[in-house]
Formats: sequence, C-alpha cells, structure tokens
Amino acid sequence: MNRTEIKSQFYNIIDSHKNQVITYANFLNKNSELGFFEFNSSEYIYKILYNLGLKPKKISTTGLEIKFSGINPGPTIAVIAELDGLTVPGHPFYNIQNKAAHACGHHTQSAILLAIIITLCNSNFIRQINGSIKFIFTPAEELIDINNRIALYENNKISFLSGKQDLISLGTFDEVSLAIMTHSAPLNKIYKVSFGGKTNANQVHRATFYGKSSHAGGYPDKGINSSQAAYLSNLSINNKRINFDSNDNVRIHGVYSNDNNSINTVPNKTFYEGKIRVKHFDKLKNITQSIFRSYIGSAKAVGCDLLIEKFPGYHPLIQDSNLINIIKDNALVFYDEKKINHISDDSQSGGSTDMGDISTLMPVVHPLFHSAEGEPHSENFVVTNNELGIFNPAKIIAGSIVDIMTNLHLQKQIIESYKRKYSIQKYLSIQNNEFEKITVKNMK
Ligand SMILES: [Zn+2]
Repeated sequence: MNRTEIKSQFYNIIDSHKNQVITYANFLNKNSELGFFEFNSSEYIYKILYNLGLKPKKISTTGLEIKFSGINPGPTIAVIAELDGLTVPGHPFYNIQNKAAHACGHHTQSAILLAIIITLCNSNFIRQINGSIKFIFTPAEELIDINNRIALYENNKISFLSGKQDLISLGTFDEVSLAIMTHSAPLNKIYKVSFGGKTNANQVHRATFYGKSSHAGGYPDKGINSSQAAYLSNLSINNKRINFDSNDNVRIHGVYSNDNNSINTVPNKTFYEGKIRVKHFDKLKNITQSIFRSYIGSAKAVGCDLLIEKFPGYHPLIQDSNLINIIKDNALVFYDEKKINHISDDSQSGGSTDMGDISTLMPVVHPLFHSAEGEPHSENFVVTNNELGIFNPAKIIAGSIVDIMTNLHLQKQIIESYKRKYSIQKYLSIQNNEFEKITVKNMK
C-alpha cells in the first residue's frame, strides 16, 4: 500500500470505532482528576490498552507508556496526551470527589491517542516501518495544586512538580527524536485548526507566612496575623506591575490555598501559591527576586516568619516548522487552506506548558483544534464537537505518523535541522538549580 492508501485505511478504522472512542472520552471527561492523582483515568486507560492485547508501562505516579516497534531500528517518535484536569467549581463536568474538571479538554487528547492505538492494532502498519512510536499518557501538565505536589515531592514520589518534567527525569524521553501532541481550543468562526506561536516561561513558588493565633475578638493584640502579611505582599506585587516591560509579557498571579483559617482566630499560617510568567526563561530570575522581596518585606512589616519554596517552572514552547508543515498537509485533507490558522512566530501566549520543556530537547508540534464552547480554564469550556475535537485530529495525527515513519528523508530532515537547546543532562541540571528555599525569622 502507498501512503495515501494506508491513510485512507486508517481513516476507515477510526470511523468504525467512533462509538467506542466517544465512550472513552465521556468517561474521562466525567471522571477528571488533578495532576499526579489521575489514578482512575490511568487505570481506565490501562484496562483499554490491556484488552487490546498491549502491556502498558506505568511511569511516574499515574503515567502510562506504550511502544510500537517496527521491524528495523530507526528513530522513536512520541505522541503525547495529558491526563490532568483543573479545579474549576461550577464546570458542568466538575468531579466533586477529586475537585477537578477537564476545563482545558485534556480528555480529548487521551481519546485521540486511543483512536490511533486502536488503528495501529487493526492494521499491519507497524510491521512495515523502521523505528518506533511511543504513546505517552503524561500526568500533571497544569502546574497547580502545589500543596499536594510538594507533599509528593517530599515523599520522593516525584522529582519535579510537572508531569513531563518528571518523565524527562525518569528517562521516558531519552530515546525520543521528536514529539507530537494536540490540544483543544475554542470553536472559531473561521478556523478549525491553529499552528505555531510561542508560550511564556513560568516559575512557581509557595510562600508560607507564619503568625501567632489568638482570639480575634477578645485578644487580637496577642496574635500575629499571617493572612494580613500575605494580603500586604499582594498589594506590594500589584504596585510593581506598572514597572514591567510590556514586551516581556509578564503575568503574576496566585491563590491563597488550604490555610484552614477560621474567622474567629487570628490566622497563624497562610499559604500563598504564586506564579510568574514571562516571555524568556532568562528573565524569570530578576522578576522572581523582586516578587520575593514583596513577601519578605510584608512578613517583616507584620512580624511574621516566612518560608518561600521555589520550584522549577516551564520553558517557552517553540514549535518545529517541519512538523508544523507535516501536520498542516494532513489537515488539508479535511479543511481547506482558509480554515487553517498560522499563528505568527512572534505571537506569544501568556500561558505556559511543560511541552515547552520538551521543545528545548527535540522538535515538537502542538496544534490547537477548535472544538469547544467557552473559554479555556473557565466553567463554560466544554468540547462539544467530536469531529473537530477528536476524530479529525486523530486522523490528522495518524496521517502525520504515516508520513514521518515511512519517509527516511523526511525523518532526517526534521531531526537534523532541529537546533537542540539543551541535552537532557543539561536541562535536568538547569531545572535542579531552580529549587530554592528562603527562610526569614521575624517573630521573637
Ligand atoms: Zn491544557
């Protein structure tokens, strides 16, 4: 069979398994879980793969990996899905038990991978290729829920606070030459798929303000109010915003998390989970120092002790133009050119993804499929169009796999023209240097 015939066989197999794949997507959507705790989703996917006769490898806390190897050696390509949801109360599929919802559409990524894996199991394509295809279901793309992640880190369950970072440290990407993933996006009047653009680097930290409890009505003078120190630090941070260079695309935001304070007691411990995002990774350091001064000064003003714990964040996502062209060629089977959006290389999203970290190590592509109502990460973001959000993306990625795995010249072109920013070893040393703890004592 030539490439066109293999692709059309793949499209047919995907079409004949639609009901099955929709069942998988619906289950995952209704059972969303937070990063590194996607145990039910992982177990569910494991069973599906096992029933297909496959033996997935368990990686990190909840990740899964399945590798299809061709008859001869060759490059390994990775196709990635993210398992995690977000805490968005009020979302129609909010999982009360796990405090999570797929308000970013990550369940469609797993559905797409499962559709492609089913396709490979129902064809003899793998027996014709050189090299391997590795499907990776990764935990924890969203860098959130920091208290629980720090607990996992301190118990040696994870080495980094994000899924792909942890997988890099575990060696999952050691032998991988390029990586492909998909992401859902809001429905668009013109476009069905968008390619390109960059994302911000980020940095995450937790500031813990320690005060002294006392009766809030009877003896407020005996207490030291940790919440007030945290509020004061936010006033200071907000005053700094006017001084950031608008070209740096700076975002600073945070949440007060799990402080368990009660109104009748002067709070003695307040957690603040903070995030800093900026265009270039190198600029994080100065902004971070400035923000940390706000915590330190506010703790001193109120008389609180302070612990700041800083963790490695994400690198900007930079996508590979060769891979973009391959995915685009395959998208043209389903959409005419006018429905395909090329985001300019200069365009910088305020958001961040740990796919950015992978993009410092190998060529990657991260197309956006416009298939959802509402705004990403909001309570009204729901993938409503399965053709646009699951089946066409599965066919486009499956077709791209056919192109890459059957064309040695193309493989060589992608791999050799990519300029790697870091080796995996260098990347891990840079990330490990980002861990930092600052302790300040102000209480007598
Ligand atoms: Zn996402």
